[in-house]
Amino acid sequence: MLVVMRDHASQESIDHVVDLLREAGAEAHMSTGEVKTIIGVVGEREIVYALELEGLPGVQEVIRVLKPFKLVTREFQPEDTVIRIGRSFVGGGAFAVIAGPCSIESEEQMLGVARDAAAAGATLIRGGAYKPRSSPYAFQGMGLEGLKLLRAAGDSVDLPVVTEVLDVRDAETVAQWADVLQVGARNMQNFMLLEELGRMRKPILLKRGLAATIEETLSAAEYLLKGGNRDVILCERGVRTFETYTRNTLDLAAVAAFKQLTHLPVIADPSHATGRRDLIVPMSRASITAGADGLMIEVHPQPERAKCDGPQSLTPADFSALMDGIRPLIALEGKHLGVDL
Ligand code: PEP
Ligand code: MN
Repeated sequence: MLVVMRDHASQESIDHVVDLLREAGAEAHMSTGEVKTIIGVVGEREIVYALELEGLPGVQEVIRVLKPFKLVTREFQPEDTVIRIGRSFVGGGAFAVIAGPCSIESEEQMLGVARDAAAAGATLIRGGAYKPRSSPYAFQGMGLEGLKLLRAAGDSVDLPVVTEVLDVRDAETVAQWADVLQVGARNMQNFMLLEELGRMRKPILLKRGLAATIEETLSAAEYLLKGGNRDVILCERGVRTFETYTRNTLDLAAVAAFKQLTHLPVIADPSHATGRRDLIVPMSRASITAGADGLMIEVHPQPERAKCDGPQSLTPADFSALMDGIRPLIALEGKHLGVDL
């Protein structure tokens, strides 16, 4: 951290800052110029930040150099993390395509979607059993029965399955049935849940919060890695903005920034980001070009009958066409579909 003093700040104000830092157990390294004094601070990050030096007389600016995370950074690990899940891979050139319905509704629906998605080239199958709905009156998901249907669907095509864990109390059960545990956008800063999942040895798909900054998202991932779970996939799923034409705003700059900042695989979810079927193909293509390591696409056999997120779901035929269209783009990025055939 750097404390930048105002031009010609009084010696008294400088001494006051230095005294406070030393009392907090930090070292203060002075850089004293003609008009400006800058104090370089080395010490316990949380204690130093808690001093809130910004408000003191003579202080112009406090620059936080230290980041609240380190295990997720490229400085800590320069090479890409590659996660193996069954016969699928993600990261380090392996491109993941996670396809399936928003929510698991029936055996017929799940087996059918899994068959069609796998035939089209999906590398993982998704389906929600516990749904985080904005309204308490909306369909909340099939729970354990849904998990079993998802497992059977994944097994029927020999692909791993992804589903959301909504609550710490369900973590063990979901981990028993699924291969990848999803932390939804509304739970990205549920630190108890992150700590619990950090202790598990199952890959985690961490979705960016509705209004989470890039640094907050990386800090959430840091919780998982700090707990010992290194298999974390980040997911850009759009953030809340003033725009209402789309459900959210797909932040592709965040995809590119995550790729620079972290070694973890980064995927994009154009379904939740746009809320609109007609925007999924262009946004999938753009995500690949921005450097994404994968996509999450909602696919439903009859989107108009879907219990959840029908308007943003592709039919299996549309999904198959999407896959044919993106294969060359994935190759152009020097990547390949992450699945052993
Ligand atoms: C989902 O993936 O179905 C979902 C609920 O996503 P999000 O948490 O990004 O809204
Ligand atoms: Mn959904």
